[in-house]
Amino acid sequence: MAADPTGPYDLAVVGAGIIGAMTAYRAARRSPRPRVLVLDAGTPGAGATGSSAGFDLPSGRGAAQLELAARSAARYRELVAQHPELTRDRVAVRWLVDAAGQAALARSLHGEPPAAADAETERRLAEIFPGFTRSPGTALLTSPPAEHTAPARTVAVLLEQVRAAAPGNAVWPGFAVTEVRRRAGLFDLYAHDGARVSARRLVTATGPWALDGPYGEVARTYGVRCKKVAAYHIPVCPPAGAPALVLEDDDAFLLPQPDRDRWLFSFTSQDWDCAPGSPSMRLGPHDRRLARAVLDRHVPGFAPLLGGGQVHCDGYAPGHLPVVAAAEDGAVLAVAGAGSGYRLAPAIAEDALALLDCLEPPTP
Ligand SMILES: Cc1cc2nc3c(=O)[nH]c(=O)nc-3n(C[C@H](O)[C@H](O)[C@H](O)COP(=O)(O)OP(=O)(O)OC[C@H]3O[C@@H](n4cnc5c(N)ncnc54)[C@H](O)[C@@H]3O)c2cc1C
Repeated sequence: MAADPTGPYDLAVVGAGIIGAMTAYRAARRSPRPRVLVLDAGTPGAGATGSSAGFDLPSGRGAAQLELAARSAARYRELVAQHPELTRDRVAVRWLVDAAGQAALARSLHGEPPAAADAETERRLAEIFPGFTRSPGTALLTSPPAEHTAPARTVAVLLEQVRAAAPGNAVWPGFAVTEVRRRAGLFDLYAHDGARVSARRLVTATGPWALDGPYGEVARTYGVRCKKVAAYHIPVCPPAGAPALVLEDDDAFLLPQPDRDRWLFSFTSQDWDCAPGSPSMRLGPHDRRLARAVLDRHVPGFAPLLGGGQVHCDGYAPGHLPVVAAAEDGAVLAVAGAGSGYRLAPAIAEDALALLDCLEPPTP
């Protein structure tokens, strides 16, 4: 069954998480206006993006990720200037780090370098985070406010902009691409129910599903694996102006969410090779033990208060760098957010479209 009576789209984006939505948004604003179709197996923004803390920490693991983070932060500023409804909440940031790691931390941040916290800042922190004491050999640093938001809302706004950019643009939820065939310069995309839609160009941004779909083997050749990403909620209302506390050496942070009367505690799970939708995607007893152990060390008053949480898996590639790469058939993969896909999405989208531009032009 042919599902595109008006002819092929100029670009199909498969996957409407933050990376796919950002790619479609940037493509749809190009001139001349391309006809853009976004396909999602489920509900746009409901994958890893729907579980995300949406915290744009100004840091990078290594120079390449730092460049992506800095470029993305600039693109988010431009985005907010264009669409004020995407304005993000700002939060002061405090970093607890081993004293010997201060210089490395400073090198891993973009923007203004962190500064040592004064005694008053430290005293205030102890008031906000019950039981917080800085152990000997650690340093407490402050950096300029960082921004956070609900990424699923960002996806909704971006896709609205895609639809509005040209009359032929469309977003189709519930279209799971199971097969891609090349025909006369086109990508024919087939869904599980036999529906078909065609496009001249293809970007696939299927997040943690990257290993399953038609380009699963390609993702594997780039070393993509899936890992659980998880956060607990601490049902305590943060006081006005409460900062985020980054526990740098534990790869964890506490983010105030006063609008939800809680703190979000993000910690690092080591559950590798899990699949989205599998039972291991729940918070398990070992997650609770792990989260409690980190809190016991730094904010013991919060440790017994862990409530519910949010969890998903995400694609990870070596070096925690996203994969933006062309498959043999000319499709471009933009996957492996590595637990940072929200804050890196604008640069990933930009790089995916730049790569598309470098490939052979599609046959008309
Ligand atoms: C608890 C948690 C906290 C996080 N906190 C942060 C944070 O503070 N900051 C940050 O930067 N990042 C954070 N992340 C990571 C970030 O959320 C992810 O890196 C990012 O959302 C990945 O986006 P994506 O577009 O690659 O994937 P997804 O959002 O998963 O989107 C992929 C989409 O593809 C669709 N799809 C899959 N297969 C197909 C198919 N065959 N056909 C059609 N559609 C398909 C899916 O339905 C899905 O909607 C967090 C993640 C979690 C789970």
